Amino acid sequence: MAQSKCATCGSGRFEAVHAQNLEGTKRAIIFIQCAECGAVIGALDLVNVGIQVNQVKEDWLRLIERLRTQFRS
Ligand SMILES: [Zn+2]
Repeated sequence: MAQSKCATCGSGRFEAVHAQNLEGTKRAIIFIQCAECGAVIGALDLVNVGIQVNQVKEDWLRLIERLRTQFRS
């Protein structure tokens, strides 16, 4: 497999960082960038499906408990 390299400086080291200077969106975006010169080579939308599924599960459990309470009284 070929070694990934930065097109700007030739470094083979990369890092993922939260985009702090991205205008026009409120979404959490992660930049994949060269660890040496900072050239951005990709972007990821930071959506954690596991956390969202767990939130929906907790919302449903609260709703079920509220319904149980209402039917008891
Ligand atoms: Zn670079």
